[in-house]
Amino acid sequence: MWLGDVVEHVVVSGGGIAGTALALALRTAGIAVTVVESRPADHGEGAVVRLNPNGMDALRAVGAHQPVIARSFPLVRTERVRPDGSRLGYSLGADPSSQRGLPRVMHWPVLSAVLRELAIERGAVFRHGSRVVDAEVDTPTAAVSLADGSRVEGDVLVGADGANSLVRGRINPDGPEPERLGTRTIYGYAAEPGCEPPPPEVLRSYMGARGFFAATRDAHSGGCFWFTSLHAPNPRRRDDPQRTDELRAEMSELFAGDDTIAPEVVARSERILAFDDHALAHVPRWHTDRAIIIGDALHVAPPASEQGAAMALEDGVQLARCLRDHVDPAAAFAAFERLRRDRVEAVVALGRMGTSRAHQNALARRLRNLRTKAKRYVEWQRKPPMGRGWAYDHHIDWESRA
Ligand SMILES: Cc1cc2nc3c(=O)[nH]c(=O)nc-3n(C[C@H](O)[C@H](O)[C@H](O)COP(=O)(O)OP(=O)(O)OC[C@H]3O[C@@H](n4cnc5c(N)ncnc54)[C@H](O)[C@@H]3O)c2cc1C
Repeated sequence: MWLGDVVEHVVVSGGGIAGTALALALRTAGIAVTVVESRPADHGEGAVVRLNPNGMDALRAVGAHQPVIARSFPLVRTERVRPDGSRLGYSLGADPSSQRGLPRVMHWPVLSAVLRELAIERGAVFRHGSRVVDAEVDTPTAAVSLADGSRVEGDVLVGADGANSLVRGRINPDGPEPERLGTRTIYGYAAEPGCEPPPPEVLRSYMGARGFFAATRDAHSGGCFWFTSLHAPNPRRRDDPQRTDELRAEMSELFAGDDTIAPEVVARSERILAFDDHALAHVPRWHTDRAIIIGDALHVAPPASEQGAAMALEDGVQLARCLRDHVDPAAAFAAFERLRRDRVEAVVALGRMGTSRAHQNALARRLRNLRTKAKRYVEWQRKPPMGRGWAYDHHIDWESRA
């Protein structure tokens, strides 16, 4: 039972997007926070990230949107084209009549650095290069033990330690693990693509013989961001290093013969990263009285949801609000779960649907193309297809009580 007055100090395991957003929001609420992160601050890993309007809304709630806007660019439209350039389908980035704004695209390491700098400016403490090896989630003082033998204690512990979360395992000893979907997403970036990528406001998917190649130009550097998705029956090992040359060779083979920008851009890409797709929709126990999990530790949405980073931001800001407004951590965690459970489970389901659509067989794909054509003539004349409205329509009212 909680006998303290207020939550004064929060310990966060994991300084990815969720942990950093939480730190930023906790400092905005005046709560002290220490983030323990195994990677060094300047690891520079990561490729491109799409931040949907709900993620931008979460940043706006804590006055952190402007630096992100300054380093990103808006996405107005996504389209699918045949190699000859004719358009198969398109959708708008977001409903232009809504107030929620457009999705933003940027380098992942830049997003991570911008949020960390803001959090530090507001007084958050980061301990980089510190691996958490154990977590006390049921004791009166929440604590983590680090690989160097030291401990960090706080009033509460938050596990923002990603899809393979150690803290999730402590809260749910027999709980579920993320399910591998049998697909893999490959992200790349070419600073000098050697050809003309689609303009920054357009994310264009070139449908090739063996896979799609989605690309856009970075409005700031002129480089080309791209990604694709593959069937991948054999899992990558968690600790497999990202071997750029091998991935480039694999991608060159995949797009060989396609009369699109793909072969040229792949050949010139200096950064290529591969991630196996996973999904985790339902974790039975989100928290104890002293510890809780957020971000990918709590819900893993496949990349097709385009919501991993945005949901991590929502989680961080909402949990800070709950800790600000409830004296008892257990009550704050219960409020967080009430606010979040239905939404995160629905977003993961949306991502799973998107992943299976991207890997439909040839017949299903032809039927889908026919449906798209029919819609173009019948429906789109009246109303253009919009982005995923309900998932984007999420607003955090920071001033109101959680
Ligand atoms: C290095 C990196 C690069 C990424 N690049 C992209 C990208 O280019 N595009 C994209 O869409 N998504 C990317 N992602 C994934 C994306 O950030 C997440 O899916 C989403 O934002 C959820 O964020 P998260 O903070 O919950 O989890 P994560 O981003 O996975 O962050 C978890 C953090 O916890 C740390 N951690 C884990 N275990 C421990 C431990 N025991 N002790 C201390 N620290 C620990 C990890 O080092 C990591 O920094 C990347 C993630 C990482 C970690």
